[in-house]
Amino acid sequence: MTNFERIDKEVAELLSRMTLEEKIGQLHLISGEGGHLSDHLRHTVTEGKIGGILNEVNLDTINELQRIAVNESRLGIPLLIGRDVIHGFRTVFPIPLGQAASWNPDMIEKCARVSAEEAAASGVNWTYAPMIDIGRDPRWGRVAETMGEDPWLTGTLAQAMVRGFQGDDLSKPGSIAACAKHFAGYGASEAGRDYAATNVSENELRNVHLPPFKAAADAGVASFMTSFGDIDGVPASGNEFLLKQILRREWQYNGFVVSDWESIRELSVHGLTANDKEAACEAINAGVDMEMTSDSYPNFIKELMDEGKVTIEQIDYMVSNILRCKFRLGLFDTAHTDTSIFPASGNEQYLQLAKEAAAESIVMLQNNHNRLPLNRSELNKLAVIGPLSDDDYEQLGTWIFDGDPSLSQTVLQAINQSAGEHTEIQYVRAMETSRSRSTEHFEEAVEAARSSDVAVLCMGEESILSGEAHCRADISLPGNQEDLIAAVAATGTPIVLVILAGRPLTLLNVLPNVDSILFAWHPGSMGGPAIADILFGDRVPSGKLPVTFPKMVGQIPIYHSQKNTGRPATPETYRHIDDFEPRAHQVSLGNTSFHFDAGYTPLFPFGFGLSYTEFHYSEIQLNTAELQMGGTLEISAEVRNNGERAALEIVQLYIRDLVGNVTRPVKELKGFERVHLEAGESRRVSFTLHTDDLAFFNRKMEKVTEAGDFHVWIGGNSDTELRAEFKIV
Ligand code: BGC
Repeated sequence: MTNFERIDKEVAELLSRMTLEEKIGQLHLISGEGGHLSDHLRHTVTEGKIGGILNEVNLDTINELQRIAVNESRLGIPLLIGRDVIHGFRTVFPIPLGQAASWNPDMIEKCARVSAEEAAASGVNWTYAPMIDIGRDPRWGRVAETMGEDPWLTGTLAQAMVRGFQGDDLSKPGSIAACAKHFAGYGASEAGRDYAATNVSENELRNVHLPPFKAAADAGVASFMTSFGDIDGVPASGNEFLLKQILRREWQYNGFVVSDWESIRELSVHGLTANDKEAACEAINAGVDMEMTSDSYPNFIKELMDEGKVTIEQIDYMVSNILRCKFRLGLFDTAHTDTSIFPASGNEQYLQLAKEAAAESIVMLQNNHNRLPLNRSELNKLAVIGPLSDDDYEQLGTWIFDGDPSLSQTVLQAINQSAGEHTEIQYVRAMETSRSRSTEHFEEAVEAARSSDVAVLCMGEESILSGEAHCRADISLPGNQEDLIAAVAATGTPIVLVILAGRPLTLLNVLPNVDSILFAWHPGSMGGPAIADILFGDRVPSGKLPVTFPKMVGQIPIYHSQKNTGRPATPETYRHIDDFEPRAHQVSLGNTSFHFDAGYTPLFPFGFGLSYTEFHYSEIQLNTAELQMGGTLEISAEVRNNGERAALEIVQLYIRDLVGNVTRPVKELKGFERVHLEAGESRRVSFTLHTDDLAFFNRKMEKVTEAGDFHVWIGGNSDTELRAEFKIV
C-alpha cells in the first residue's frame, strides 16, 4: 500500500466515526486569541467544533490547544495552525517581489525552508504562501507579495517556494503545509485597487493568471486559498468554474481549498448572495472546503442539508480533503511541538542566508560614470542621508507579523562597519518618514553632502505603503523625497540612490539627478550588509527586474508580454506631445499604440539589471530551423563577460509565436540560466525547448502547440535584440 492509499484509508475510517457536528467543525478555521486561551476556546476545541486556528503563535498556547484537541476531544483530531509566513518568520527575507528579482529558485527554496523551520518551532504547521497572483499593476499594494508579472517565472519560483515549505515529506520536522493564493485573478483588480473587481477573459485567465497555480498544484502544494475578488461577476469564493471545473476536474487537485478572511460572508457584501446562509450554500457548491473566520458554515450547513441544498457526500468530500492534509502533516502521530529539536530562530546561518537573498535581490538600475562600486581608499567623507538609512523595522516590508526588527542590520550600521577606517560618515535622516513633507532638515542633509565625496541616499517607501489594502495612485517617491534629492544634487556631490520599496516606482524625475540607483525592494533583516557589500564592490549586483518599471503611472499596465495590436508603435511612428506643430493634423501623428507624453517603452524593461561588468551576447544558434511537432529545439548563444570583474549573469530566453488561433504576446519568457563568468570569459549558454513548452490555450480553451513561425531571443533582459527564427512543422 502506498502512503497515499494508507492515508486515504485512515481518512475514510475516521470519517466513518464522525458525527455531522464533528464534520462541520473540521470545516471551520477561526482566529486565535493572541496567546490567551479562554474557556470558550477550550470548550470549542474539546467539542471538535474547529478544524484549525490562525494567527496564534504562542507555542505554549498552541501546544495546549493541540493537547486538548488530541486528548480531550472525542476523536482526537489535531488542529491546523495557520499563519502568514510570507517572506520569513523571525528572520526576514526580502519581500517575495524582491526574492523574484534573484531569479534563483534554489535560494528561494532555502529561504522558504528556514521560514518553515522557524515557524514550525512555534507550532505553526500551515502557511498562507506562496502568493502567486500575477502582478502587473504596481499601484496595487500586494504587488510586493507577488513574484512579478510573468506567469512562467512566477510558476517556477512558486514551485521552489512550495518545495522549501513542504520539503520532500510534510510529516518531517520543519515541514509545513503551503497554500497557493489567491485563486484566481486577484492581481488584475481594476486600477490596482485592492479587492476591486477583476475582468479577465477566460483566455487571458488560462494563459496568464492560472499557469503559476497549475505549477504549484503540480509541485504538490497542500492547499489553495480563494481570492477576495469578483471575477467576471462571480466572486472567487463562490466560483464553481475556478474551483470545480479547473482545479478539481481539469487539474485533479486533491489538496484542500480554504476561503480568504471572511470571504464567504463577503459574498453577500458583493451582492452575489443575500445572506450568510446563501453565501454558505454558494461557497460549498462552488468547492470551498474550509471557511476562514466567518461562521456561515457552522451556522447554516445543517439547515442547508435539511433543505436538500447541500448533501452529506459534499460535506464528506470537504472534510476528507482537510483530514488528508492533517495525516500528511503527521499530526495524528504527534501534534506537540518540541522547540528544542529546531535550530534557534535568527541564528547566524539563517542571517547569512538572509544576507545572500537580499544581495541577490538588489537590482542596479543606473550607474553613470561607473560611480559604483565606491572605492574605499578614495573616500574621505561619505554622507548617508534619508529616512530608510537606519530603520530596523521599515526595511522588513509588508507581512512580517513575527519578524524580529532587533535582528535587522541597517544600511547605516553596515556602512559604518564596512567603510574604510579613514572614511568619515556623516548621517542625516533628513525626513521623519518616507512620506514627510517637512523640509526642516534638508539644509543639514545638503551640508553633509556638500562636504562629502559621495552621498548615499536611502529613500523609498516605508513598510506600510505596500501590502494588503495599501495601494497608491501615485507611485513616485513619496513625500518630499524628490525635492530632497534635487537639493542634494545641487551641491554637485555625486549621488548613489538606494531605494527600499514594496513596488516598482516611477523614477523618471530622479534619474538625471543621481549617478547610480540600487533598487533593493524591502530587503529584510540583512538588507544593510547586502547593500553595503554591493556599494563597496565586495559583491557584484546580479538581480534582474521581475516586473516592468513604467515611466509614468498612465502607462500601467505595461509589461513585456503585451500583445502586438493592429498598430504597434515603432521608433519611426512615435511622436512626442511637444513635437506637434500648432494646428497639427491627425494624419501626421503616426496612429499607432502609444501615449504621446510617455512613449511606448517603459523606464526599465522586465528582466533588466546592470552589473559591475558588461555582458556581450552573440552568435545565437539553433540545432534546426524546422522543428517537428513533438520534437526538441536546442538554442544557444555566446555570452562573454567583457569587463574586469567576475560576475553572475541571468541569461534569459524569450520566444514569440507569430501567428496563432488567438493572438500571442510579442515576447514570452521561456527559460533562464544563471551563469557565472570570470572577467574575459566566454561561454555558450544553451536552452532546450520542447514543442509542448510553446503551447497556449486557443479559442476553444484547448492547450495546443501550433505549427508555424517563431522568433526566439537570448539576452540579458526582455528588450534584447539577438534573435533567431524557426518553424514548427
Ligand atoms: C489575506 C490573505 C491572508 C489572510 C490571513 C487576508 O486578509 O488576503 O492573503 O492569508 O488574510 O491572514
